[in-house]
Order: sequence, then C-alpha cells, then structure tokens
Amino acid sequence: MGKIILTGDRPTGRLHLGHYVGSLRRRVELQNEGDYDKMFVFIADIQALTDNADNPDKVRQNIIEVALDYLSVGLDPSKVTLFIQSMIPELSELTMYFMNLVSVARLQRNPTVKTELAMRNFGQGVPVGFFTYPISQAADIAFCKATTVPAGEDQEPMLEQCREIVRRFNTIYGDVLVEPQIMLPTNKVCLRLPGLDGSAKMSKSLGNCIYLSDTAKEVEQKVKMAYTDPLHLRVEDPGHVEGNVVLTYLDAFATDEDFVEFWPDYKNLEEVKEHYCRGGLGDMKCKKFLINVLNKRLEPIRLRRREFEKDIPEVYAILKKGSEEAREVAAKTLHEVREAMRINYFDDAELIKAQAEKYLNA
Ligand code: ATP
Ligand code: MG
Repeated sequence: MGKIILTGDRPTGRLHLGHYVGSLRRRVELQNEGDYDKMFVFIADIQALTDNADNPDKVRQNIIEVALDYLSVGLDPSKVTLFIQSMIPELSELTMYFMNLVSVARLQRNPTVKTELAMRNFGQGVPVGFFTYPISQAADIAFCKATTVPAGEDQEPMLEQCREIVRRFNTIYGDVLVEPQIMLPTNKVCLRLPGLDGSAKMSKSLGNCIYLSDTAKEVEQKVKMAYTDPLHLRVEDPGHVEGNVVLTYLDAFATDEDFVEFWPDYKNLEEVKEHYCRGGLGDMKCKKFLINVLNKRLEPIRLRRREFEKDIPEVYAILKKGSEEAREVAAKTLHEVREAMRINYFDDAELIKAQAEKYLNA
C-alpha cells in the first residue's frame, strides 16, 4: 500500500507563521520530493462552523484567503488535490458511523479539545458539533486512507483518536481503513510556535499572529512590538532565551546564510544567544535581523499571492476540480465501508434472495 498524505486548515482567518513552520513548509517539501502516491490538502469549513455557527460569512470569506495562502506558499494543484470539506458529503456520512465507535468519556479526555474549550469560553453552551469535531476529523483523514499527516503538536491527540477509531472499525467490520501517523516538524520550536505576545501558541483565534500575507511594513511593526525578555531592561543586562519570542522565531527561520547577508557580526544563532545571555546585546538589533529574515522568506510568498489574486475565479476552479477528485475517492471508500458494515442492502443480491425465501417458506 502506498503513502498517502493529508492535511488541512480551518478557514477562520489567513494563515500565519505558525501554520508555515508547523505544517505548510513541510507540505511543500513533501510535494516537491514526490515520494508519495497521493497528496490531499483541504479547507476544513465544516470544522470551522463548529465554533462559528453564527458567523458563516467569516468562514465563507476565509475559504479564498486560505486557498490563496496555499497557492502562494507553493502548493501546486497539479501535484496536490486541494478541496473543500463540505463539498464531500461522504465525510459527514463517515462521521456518523464513527460516532458509534467513540465514548463521550474518551472525547472529554482529549487534551486539545480541553484547551480549546477553555479558550473559547462556551460555558454551558458547548456545541455538540464542536465537542465531537475530533470524530469528524478522523473521517477527514480516513476517507482517503491517509498514511501520513504533517501537522503541529496540537494535532497529536486528534491523530491518536483517529487511530483508535480506525482500529475499532477494522476490528468490528473488517480491514477497510488505514491507521495514519502524524509527521511533526523536526525543529522543536516549530512544534508550537508561540504568539507575538509570548503566549503558548500563535493562533488566528488569539490575534497574536504574523500572517503570511502581511506587508513588509506590518511585519516590521509587529516584530518591533514582540515580547522578548522582561528582565532585559538595559542592553548590558544578561538576557534570557527561554520564552523570548524573537529568538524563538529566529530559531525557526534564520539560516547561517542569513547571517552572512544581514548580520555578519555573528556566524550563527548560537553566537547571538551566547552574547544575549552574557549581556551587551540589545533587543532591537535582534529584532532588526528578524525583520530582514522574515521579509526575505515572505517576499516570494507575497509576490505569488498577488499573481493568484488577479484571477480569483481560477482559484475557485482549482478548488472545485480538487473537490470533485476527492469526492470520487470518498465515494469509493464509503462503498467499501457500507459493504463492510453490512448496510449495502440494495447491492446485496444474497440478502434480498435470502429474505425472499424466508417469507415464501413462512
Ligand atoms: P484556530 O484558532 O481557528 O483553531 P489555528 O491558528 O489554531 O486556528 P488551525 O487551522 O487550527 O490553526 O491549524 C492548522 C494546522 O496548523 C495544524 O496542523 C496545526 O497543528 C498547525 N498550527 C497552527 N498553529 C500553529 C503554531 N502556532 N505552531 C505550529 N503549528 C501550528
Ligand atoms: Mg486550531
């Protein structure tokens, strides 16, 4: 059996540096390495509606933003199937079957859902759809028999839950579905890139992001405001690396070539960190370097985005074509699923014959 890659994002806002280092960058590498049989990337609009039911326009508007971000980082629709979740009704059907294979207690134990519930202040009003989105996400992964899911660390509990569901399905109904593996970023700081404010995660919902589509000026302004080290008041004071957002972003982005180009006083980030901890290196110098590094990475992305923005109907056409392709794959899997679950009544001539005989002989 081949290698099938699947990942997606919620259309709740434009994509940011956290998405880039946590998953997007890897997707483009995987796409270009070509070592896979099929690659799917999808926009999870049904999942976005689970906590935005009263704001469907937000989801509707952000479909195109996420699609533009995909194309501008270099995802190539001739190599990758780009699709929209809600355009594949088979995913909802598979979710319904999966619902019976998970207990409420198991869902309540999912640590990512716990954190997200706390973040969203639902109180007593948690939507059932939100609570059960890990099940729907398992269907999103299982429909194409994905083997590999490149994602950030917050997705680990989701993948674990998906594997459990698939295992349970295969045990009860027979070997139809495939257990997927998560593919985490290899660089530790990229597992969960912190927000500009120093909070644990850069997230659209927390508004602490540098977006891939931010202008060079916006990147500059945001980096200048970024959280560093509250104990590093004067340049001479010893600084701390732990929790320092600017140094963390440099960890995720800066290469030795960037030092040659923008900051030849140092060979690499290790030297910068050493000086920073010793004292005598100001935050502004680090920030200026980061601004240069980020803008260098983001400029080609911005330029590509501008090109795709000139032909929005074409972007929708790409999504439509991808959705049709994904739907064919889903239809095939669901056919196997119904057969395995013995709910393929009309296709089962044996069943009809046996029932007919039973009543004729009664
Ligand atoms: P929302 O706030 O609406 O949940 P989000 O910013 O968390 O949005 P998602 O669409 O939920 O983004 O995440 C999509 C993918 O990006 C997932 O694989 C997730 O692990 C990864 N990701 C998101 N934020 C980060 C981050 N700060 N660091 C690393 N990976 C991230
Ligand atoms: Mg999220």
